[in-house]
Amino acid sequence: MKAVYTAAHLAHDVTYETYLGQPLPANEISERAELIRQSLQGDGGFSFVAPTDHGEAPITAVHDPGLVRFLESAWADARREQLDVPYLVADTYPTIKLYEGMSPDFAAAQPAPEAVAGALGWWGLDTSNPIVEGTYGAARAAVDVALTTVDLVLGGEQAAYGLCRPPGHHAARSMAGGYCFFNNVAIAAEAIARSTGERVAVLDVDYHHGNGTQQIFWRRGDVFYASIHADPMRQYPFFLGHGHERGEGDGQGENLNLPQPAGLTNDGYLAALDRVLEAIAERPGSVIVVSLGFDTYGRDPIGDFALTTPVYHEVGRRVAATGRRLVILQEGGYYRPALGDNAVAWLRGAESRPLA
Ligand SMILES: [Zn+2]
Repeated sequence: MKAVYTAAHLAHDVTYETYLGQPLPANEISERAELIRQSLQGDGGFSFVAPTDHGEAPITAVHDPGLVRFLESAWADARREQLDVPYLVADTYPTIKLYEGMSPDFAAAQPAPEAVAGALGWWGLDTSNPIVEGTYGAARAAVDVALTTVDLVLGGEQAAYGLCRPPGHHAARSMAGGYCFFNNVAIAAEAIARSTGERVAVLDVDYHHGNGTQQIFWRRGDVFYASIHADPMRQYPFFLGHGHERGEGDGQGENLNLPQPAGLTNDGYLAALDRVLEAIAERPGSVIVVSLGFDTYGRDPIGDFALTTPVYHEVGRRVAATGRRLVILQEGGYYRPALGDNAVAWLRGAESRPLA
């Protein structure tokens, strides 16, 4: 299988994230992507491809240009404001309650704050998303990784893997969050829909709900979003990801959330997967974009599922057995000792190669 990778992700060099107001060692660190790359290289069944520059247009096809400009300038603006901090996170966010009783149009017309401290909240969801000097360049490169993976699959590959970092599925139209800046998977799905005119399925198997992807395609009939994830009643992103969220307008019925309990086993997971794959099979289209996360692993430090390495091989196998072409893009996964093995297992499954 072809795997798209670039060392450009290393520029998003984060050490801390903020959790419940405390600085803690960051989970989404560059070592994650390097461990996966090393395992793929060690496997011998993957050939590496460098991403090509796809420009900004595919990004603003799903994101507010204001978010792009903010991420591009945030670090320099902070320096100009003499904010002497090792990384940027907000502490003030415009929750919907701020605008309670005011019309949605009124809230939407509020200007983005000029001060970086306010802009960080305006364009962000949470404090787990540190911005450093190289964040924007790395996030742009992750988009190019995703779009180059799309090129490979539309060019004839049955499946290809994009080692995206930073990940993307929590990033919404005008909002970064949850270790994510640009929504790599949504940008890929949009590019496929535009280029083929076909309907596209997004399968999100990260431990967390992909709130950003759901939001971007909420009213769209041409992109089906399906996700198996921790119940938002107990887990991030808390405010979206419930089972009753089915889409609206043209997208009515084109959003499928299967929230899951703590301790979810391999068997429980595969049962949910079969439901999702059935729903995909009921819809036309020839490509599935996969949001691939390994924070479903039993020892993940921020997850609470009980999956083991062999099940990833079976998940990859069942997804490939749909017969659809696969654009497989990396999202989360934070238990570093098993990350490489889990990635190799999933991708070998997706190629119908036996688990080593
Ligand atoms: Zn996750």
